Amino acid sequence: MKTGDFDWTDEAIAELRQHHADGLSTSLIAEAMRRPGQRNSIIGKLTRLGITRDDRPPARKVKPSPKHRPVKRAPPPPPEPMPAPDVDDSNIPFTQLCTLMQLTNETCRWPVSGADYTLYCGHRSADLAAGQPYCKSHSDRALAGKGRA
Ligand SMILES: [Zn+2]
Repeated sequence: MKTGDFDWTDEAIAELRQHHADGLSTSLIAEAMRRPGQRNSIIGKLTRLGITRDDRPPARKVKPSPKHRPVKRAPPPPPEPMPAPDVDDSNIPFTQLCTLMQLTNETCRWPVSGADYTLYCGHRSADLAAGQPYCKSHSDRALAGKGRA
């Protein structure tokens, strides 16, 4: 087997392993083995012996890279609440608002509360008999509110 310029005796190989285990660089190993300039032969022999730098115990623990570290993920943010339909209760004409006693099957029962009163939307587009207790705008808002705590 051709081994280049080097005569790799068992002693030389043992010495090579020892220098490598001591952490010498290949050029320093070549110097230590009195074969300066034969760094490539050293590298070639190390490779053929299956010895690599990685075989030596690491000087210090290598921190795992962040992307491999298990990361406690924050829970996903709650979904954005659906935007309320463009209804502002304060825009409901006062003459439209109903008291509880004024509600009929055709008046929207959306409560419009103030500090000391509760009135109802009163828009005459509801149809309680058809399961539609609110006007269109308030139906949309009621549906948008569903699923919210
Ligand atoms: Zn309404």
